[in-house]
Amino acid sequence: MSEERLNPRRCSHTCADGPRGSSGRLARALDLHEYQGKELFRQHGIPVSEGRLALDPASARAAADDVGYPVVVKAQVLTGGRGKAGGIKLAENADEVEAHAGEILGMDIRGHVVTKVWIERASDIEREYYLSLTFDRSAKKPLFMFTTQGGMEIEEVAATSPDALVRLHVDPLEGCHPWHARRLVYDGGVTDPSEQKQIAAIVLKLYETFVATEAMLCEINPLIVTPEGEVRALDSKFSVDDNALFRHSDLAELRDAAAADPLEALAREKGVTYVKLDGEVGVLGNGAGLTMSTVDVVTFAGGRPANFCDLGGGGDAQGVVDALEVITRDPQVRAIFFNIFGGITRGDEVARGILQAVGQMGLELPIVVRLDGTNAEEGRRILGEAALPNLSTEATMLDGARRAVELAA
Ligand code: GDP
Ligand code: MN
Repeated sequence: MSEERLNPRRCSHTCADGPRGSSGRLARALDLHEYQGKELFRQHGIPVSEGRLALDPASARAAADDVGYPVVVKAQVLTGGRGKAGGIKLAENADEVEAHAGEILGMDIRGHVVTKVWIERASDIEREYYLSLTFDRSAKKPLFMFTTQGGMEIEEVAATSPDALVRLHVDPLEGCHPWHARRLVYDGGVTDPSEQKQIAAIVLKLYETFVATEAMLCEINPLIVTPEGEVRALDSKFSVDDNALFRHSDLAELRDAAAADPLEALAREKGVTYVKLDGEVGVLGNGAGLTMSTVDVVTFAGGRPANFCDLGGGGDAQGVVDALEVITRDPQVRAIFFNIFGGITRGDEVARGILQAVGQMGLELPIVVRLDGTNAEEGRRILGEAALPNLSTEATMLDGARRAVELAA
C-alpha cells in the first residue's frame, strides 16, 4: 500500500467508501499535487508562498533565482510524509538548489518516483496548525477539522490528544458563515486576535474553494504562523470528486496520469471499475455490492484480494476481456475468482464472455467461477463443456472463494 496513513476522507465515518487499496476508495477522486492545490488556494485568496515548478536541476536553479533565496525544494508526488522521506529540503543558494533538486528528482517515495519539484520561497515558521475540510458521508455534510497541533500527521493528533482536534460540520444548504470560522478558531484555542482573524478568513475561503471545485478533501498541513504573525498555507492536499469533473474541464486537465497507479490509469482508460489491493486473488464481480462482499469472502476464506473489479451490469465478452487485461497486468495475481449473480446480466452470456476472453488472451492463470441467478445453470453447463484445464466452477460464493484462495497459495 502506497499510503498507510488514514486520511480524513477515509475515517471510520466514511466506511461507505468501500475497500481500501493503494488509493482505495470506490468514490473516485482526482488527487492533485501540492503545487496544483496551492494554485487553487491562491486563486481563492488563501495566502500561499511564491513558487515555481521545475523538471530538472538547471530549471530548479533558474526558478529559485526568480523566487529569491532561501527556498525549499519540494518533491511533487501524490503521497504524504515527503518531509520525513527526504523529499523536502531547504536551500540557501543556487548551488544548493541544484544539488537538492538533483537528489530529489528521481527519488522513490513509497513507490512514487519524483519527476517534478516545486521551488518555493522558504518561510520562517513560528507555529504549525492544521486545517481541513472533507466530505463526511454519514452526516452528508462537509466537515471542518482544525487543530493548533499541526505539522504532524492528523491521525496522531486524533489518537493522542483528541480534545485538541476541533470538528465542525457545515450544513450545505446554510453554507459556511463567519460563526463557523469563529467556532473553529476559538475552540481550537487560538488567542491572538490577528491570528484569529486571518484563520477565520482562510476557513471561509477554504469552504468557497471546496464548493467551487466540488472537492472531497482540502487539507492544509501545516497552516503556519510566521514570526511576523502572518498565517499561510505551507502544504496542500487536494482531492476533487471524479464524478464532478465533467463540470470542471480545467481541473480534469490537472490529472497527472503518469503519477497515478499505472493499473488504475489503464482501468480508467478502458472504463473498468478497478481498485488495486495488495493480495493474490484477482476478484471480479458484477455490481459494487456483490464485488465488495466477494472481497470480504476472499479475506474470510484466508486469502488476500488483489483488487476490486466490478463488471457492472454488462458482462459481455469485451467487458470481461478488458477487466481481465487490467487484473492480469498485476504480477501479484495468482488466481482469479469470478463471482457473478445473474439479474439483468445472464449467466450464459457471462460464461460465453469468460470463455471468449480466456481464449482470446491465452490465459493460463487458474480461474474459479461461481455463477448464480438468471440462466446460471446454462452458464455452468457452457463452462463445463468447454472443459478448460485452468477453469473450475463452484456452486457457492464461499466455496468459490476457498478454491481460489487455495489455487493462489
Ligand atoms: P509533507 O511532509 O509531505 O506533509 O510536506 P510539507 O509540505 O507539509 O512539509 C513538511 C515539513 O517541512 C513542514 O511541516 C515544515 O516543517 C517543513 N517545511 C516545509 N516548507 C518549509 C519552509 O518554507 N520553511 C521551513 N522552515 N520549513 C518548511
Ligand atoms: Mn504536509
